[in-house]
Amino acid sequence: MDVEIRVDRTRCIGSGQCVFVAPRAFDQDSDAKAVVTDPRGEPEERILHAVTACPVQAIALHIGGTVVAADDLKDWAHGARSDHPIVPVLEQLGEDHHELQTALSATGPADGPERVDEISSLARAHLRLEGEAYAAITALVDPQLVDAFEANHRVIDEALDELAAHGADPVRRGRAMSRLATAVGDHIRLEETVLFPIALATLARRQSSGRAALTGDQALTPRVGAGSQAADAPGDRTATRKSESSVNGRRSHDESSSSAVRPTAATSSKNSTKA
Ligand code: SF4
Repeated sequence: MDVEIRVDRTRCIGSGQCVFVAPRAFDQDSDAKAVVTDPRGEPEERILHAVTACPVQAIALHIGGTVVAADDLKDWAHGARSDHPIVPVLEQLGEDHHELQTALSATGPADGPERVDEISSLARAHLRLEGEAYAAITALVDPQLVDAFEANHRVIDEALDELAAHGADPVRRGRAMSRLATAVGDHIRLEETVLFPIALATLARRQSSGRAALTGDQALTPRVGAGSQAADAPGDRTATRKSESSVNGRRSHDESSSSAVRPTAATSSKNSTKA
């Protein structure tokens, strides 16, 4: 997935918080302005911590054409305490993530086709559940962001197809399993550090504004819900887009120091530092 870190140099006041939080990803230049030195230098969790720690909200992430700024992530923990039906769904997905990653990390060259089938079933079942959950998440975050994560699902699907095609050959099976583990690991990390917190932060914003949408207005059935689309106000559906506008409004392209966290495609900024 294409994720890019951008620092708005016009907003940066040189406080150095980002460098303190994520020293292997950020540094300060001779003007004390933050620059991205290595977008892959820190885990996503630390990058996100830097985004939210910046006192002037000068750091934003660009993911699949969507801008994620500090406001989009703020107070997500409060959102996790709402009674919205998506909350237990995200919790369940988090538990499933743990189960899937544990299963993948326990794989090895000696694993036979039966083990491959077991892992594949687990992964495909999880993708199905996530696909259903995304219908509800789309009602909370910029749908373009969800699209980017759905594209990641296709990468995992391809890895699963490769695993199925080469399951009889131990060497190719091992390579395919390794590719699957990488694709799943990357996807889960970004879901848990970006997508899910943004959805929960939206709930927190609603909670603070006293909106009725917290009281179970979504048609989520137990666990996930079949293709439900929440009846959210248009303003909430475009919360991240609004943030994008405000970020873009306060930063000119040339003034931004930007870097790709995990680029899968060429980034456009001339200030980008490819990972
Ligand atoms: S980007 Fe934010 S946290 Fe980093 S140095 Fe500038 S003001 Fe401080």
